[in-house]
Amino acid sequence: MSHAIALHGGAGTIAPELLTPELEKAYLHGLDLAISAGNKILLANGSATEAVAAAVIELENYPLFNAGKGAVFNHVGKHEMDAAIMQGVDLMAGTVAGVKNIKNPILLAQAVMTQSAHVMMAGDGAEAFAKSVGIEFADDDYFYTEQRYKQWLDLKDSSNYQLDHSANPGNKMGTVGAVALDSFGNIAAATSTGGMTNKQFGRIGDSPVIGAGTYANNHTCAISCTGHGELFLRAVVAYDISCLMEYKGLSLKEACNIVVMDKLVKIGGEGGLVAIDAKGNIEMPFNSEGMYRASINMAGEKTFGIYR
Ligand code: ASP
Repeated sequence: MSHAIALHGGAGTIAPELLTPELEKAYLHGLDLAISAGNKILLANGSATEAVAAAVIELENYPLFNAGKGAVFNHVGKHEMDAAIMQGVDLMAGTVAGVKNIKNPILLAQAVMTQSAHVMMAGDGAEAFAKSVGIEFADDDYFYTEQRYKQWLDLKDSSNYQLDHSANPGNKMGTVGAVALDSFGNIAAATSTGGMTNKQFGRIGDSPVIGAGTYANNHTCAISCTGHGELFLRAVVAYDISCLMEYKGLSLKEACNIVVMDKLVKIGGEGGLVAIDAKGNIEMPFNSEGMYRASINMAGEKTFGIYR
């Protein structure tokens, strides 16, 4: 095979005793749908960009993950979502922040990349752009899930916000994301999230910020992050890994280890990421208790993981 793909469905306090066998099965099913959707595109000689978008769409549509349907509630009881996509062949990127009622935010990010002269759009403006290019909207009910609502009820009268996967032990799911290498040797990354429960004041996390939660460059790596966005922003995680490879000549594995297991840990940045380089090496490091993840490597071997 000349292609490979990896994805995540969020990192956090995910331990075996916190998931029922049924829930575990349901998560693995969601991961399988997504990795299969991305891999199908790569097998048909589609691009890495198309593959990561297809994988993320599946995860957005799957209610257990905190993106698209199943996104967390913000302080005023709405779903405000962030997403980003980037391709390593030409450093083209598109991102959206704080968008509401967009059925698949990753498709809007992709439209920003391919159908506008811009990289990042936010809020009302991004939604007006979505209308102008025919992106599908969904009403509030579509995004509702009972477990997200319960999470929010616990917090809504406070000014606290919460990483989706660090409270309510049974319901640990966060951001989703994917990275891929296609048969043309190009890599890409995509990330999509509902952010953090009870977030307010238009809070934006790392996911839609190029270089923080999402990055791709054929010369180094493609990365999609999940975790406490504030810390990932301050550590400029994705670009830091790329820089360690570009300027210090480190391997993907070495660069990921330094950033996730040392630099992030030192500032209290809980989370993880999926990463790929142009040779098809895959890394899925995390410093939290668990991270929903799946991959298909260059040898065609499929793996799934949830716990450490
Ligand atoms: N990184 C995301 C954010 O801070 C949250 C997550 O990964 O669960 O918005």
